Amino acid sequence: MADTATVGLRIRHFRGQAGLTLDQLSDRIGVAPSQLSLMENGKREPRLSVLTALADTFNVAIADLLDDSPPTERAALELDLHKAQSNSAYQELGLPAIKPTRGMSDATLRAIVGLHRELDRRARLAIATPEEARRANTQMRWWLREQNNYLPDIEALADAATAAVGHTGGALTHRTVAEMAARVGLSIIHVDDLPHSARSVLDLEHGRIYIPPASIPGGHGLRSLALQAVAHVVLGHTQPASYSNFLRQRLEASYYAAACLMPRRASVDFLQAAKDERTIAIEDFRDAFGVTHEAAALRFTNLATEHLGIRLHFLRVGGDGAVVRAYENDGLPLPLDATGSTEGEIVCRYWSARQALGRTTRTTEHYQYTDTPHGTFFESTQTGTGTSEDFAITLGVPYRESKWFRGRESQYRAVSRCPDLNCCRRPDDGLSQRWSGQAWASARVHAHIFSPLPHGTYPGVDDRELYDFLEAHASDDG
Ligand SMILES: [Zn+2]
Repeated sequence: MADTATVGLRIRHFRGQAGLTLDQLSDRIGVAPSQLSLMENGKREPRLSVLTALADTFNVAIADLLDDSPPTERAALELDLHKAQSNSAYQELGLPAIKPTRGMSDATLRAIVGLHRELDRRARLAIATPEEARRANTQMRWWLREQNNYLPDIEALADAATAAVGHTGGALTHRTVAEMAARVGLSIIHVDDLPHSARSVLDLEHGRIYIPPASIPGGHGLRSLALQAVAHVVLGHTQPASYSNFLRQRLEASYYAAACLMPRRASVDFLQAAKDERTIAIEDFRDAFGVTHEAAALRFTNLATEHLGIRLHFLRVGGDGAVVRAYENDGLPLPLDATGSTEGEIVCRYWSARQALGRTTRTTEHYQYTDTPHGTFFESTQTGTGTSEDFAITLGVPYRESKWFRGRESQYRAVSRCPDLNCCRRPDDGLSQRWSGQAWASARVHAHIFSPLPHGTYPGVDDRELYDFLEAHASDDG
């Protein structure tokens, strides 16, 4: 059933088609022109007797008058304008409502309605400030910890999708991914002119997933991208209404993609066998399913607690020592800011991630035991080089769980007292006195918005690192 505004537009449309003025129509059906005008403007609901008379006069069915679609594109624009001006966000502005007169061109109307749509889109997206983004990220991490990073509903959907194409283990091929996309009516198209800000684009109308050309054949990134696009359809995602909603959708899509690339049954079988032999290693899991080290480590966090009874932590740390991504349900004392956010915070220099980044030879995984105020953890770290900087992927477990992992015989031990500033942040008194007032350093500007400035004498520069550097070079000759 159409609303009064739409019915009004349809009456005006059919009156125009019949070539009648308001006065002429009034004469035909015995309703005052002023009343007809109110009906056409959506201010009065026509009674059934009037609708019947109108339908007879226009030689259409009553259903045509009550149809809920605007009769023309122009009418649709007028209706959109009416609705936009009626919403509270617009009314709060105290601006006049514009009436779309006959003399107003379609272009003018389209421009005004276009601006309204954009205002509405921006208001609904509630474009997040870095502060809001940090809070939303933190809430997501807390929520994931409550779930032990395991989402059974999405696992079940991925189980069904992989079973349907017979993917029961090993690497998921591009061909099979294309088949999975086809099953939900999508085809994958490689293009080299994607918008710079987009990783992939989903065209729902034509059933297409646009992804970049395969620059590194066999890389797992494109399969994951395509599966994430498929996920939005499978999971019934609609346009995100808020930043946290957007984050949640992204999380669900990448979870779904990972669960397809590394299906639950096959992964748990593989990992359980490794646990039985006490040789769990992310690199083996990675190689068995043909994915990246990070993807394998993250997938391990999905399954480890629920299916193997192992609590754990995951860290992606940038070359600058800052947390890019973190998850823990084993009590590791992550570096946190006042709001509880960890992204952009610097991890202890004695943790595995930074010890591994500091190594000169990085050919193998780095294994170490780290004593912290929350107990001892066993950690394995793989370093890599991304498009712009180095990074380290760490998977760690409490000491008592180290017995299931390869590398447990490591003799590498470190003591971390962070968040105590005396652990690795605050220089000792001798160095402070030695260099106080004798140095100046300029901070590197951080590339990612989540980075707060490290605390130090020189904003953005870590005192200890600065002083260590100065000490090391002080003895150099000219
Ligand atoms: Zn420390």
